[in-house]
Amino acid sequence: MPELPEVETVRRSLEQELVGRRFVALRSLGWPKIVNTHSPELFAEAIAQRQIQQVLRRAKYLLIELDNHETLIVHLRMTGQMLVVAADQPADKHTHVVVELDNGRELRFHDPRKFGRWSLVDRSGVDELNQRLGPEPLGDDFTLADFSQRLQRKATKIKPTLLDQSVLAGVGNIYADEALWLAKIHPLRAAKSLNPAEVAALFEAIKTVLRNSIEHRGTTLVNYRDAYGASGENQYHLEAYGRTGEPCRRCGTPIERIVVGQRSTHLCPVCQV
Ligand SMILES: [Zn+2]
Repeated sequence: MPELPEVETVRRSLEQELVGRRFVALRSLGWPKIVNTHSPELFAEAIAQRQIQQVLRRAKYLLIELDNHETLIVHLRMTGQMLVVAADQPADKHTHVVVELDNGRELRFHDPRKFGRWSLVDRSGVDELNQRLGPEPLGDDFTLADFSQRLQRKATKIKPTLLDQSVLAGVGNIYADEALWLAKIHPLRAAKSLNPAEVAALFEAIKTVLRNSIEHRGTTLVNYRDAYGASGENQYHLEAYGRTGEPCRRCGTPIERIVVGQRSTHLCPVCQV
């Protein structure tokens, strides 16, 4: 599933293509469930001729702000891709939404699993989203003191705590494993058992793994692509995630895979304590 660095990479490529452009018309909505706030007819009416002001991101959500103060919120979920292509490029059977732009190009939503969702909301809808999400790990409101307090309040293990979007927004399975490896913390530790030095190490590690991945334009395991259809490169820089049996790059011990809260978890059993 795309996490913060992948969604941020998509956001940057969409920003290039969409800001200042207009949605001319909804060309097709082959899987109406994708738009969960409007019927296809009302959605077509609501977006027609709207100009795109900004493309923002909150956690794993894309926020496409329109000139009438409405916002199209897009969650890619497992396999969703937001692509901007020339209108004459053929679409395949997994293209479920097509919106015509005013420059001969189209915004297309490609999603083999069909779990991705679009919602068109007003300002209160955006406020609601913000309220249920924790701080952005690369934002100014993510502070060590706040992070430390949030961990103290949790009765859960550290790995599922990092996945809890109300604690920290945008971190998923890949970057939780990477941050815990970098901070040398075992994923089964109780969140509140971390001492101040460990909390500080984890706080820095979260930011480091996310920033590095954005620099590598995200991790492509299977489906994730940016708005141009390009893959990321961060899969070549992972230290723990998906490296089961391969040597830890710090100590040489084979990386282990365990299951924590039904999620695959990768760790070095020697240097993560
Ligand atoms: Zn190790």
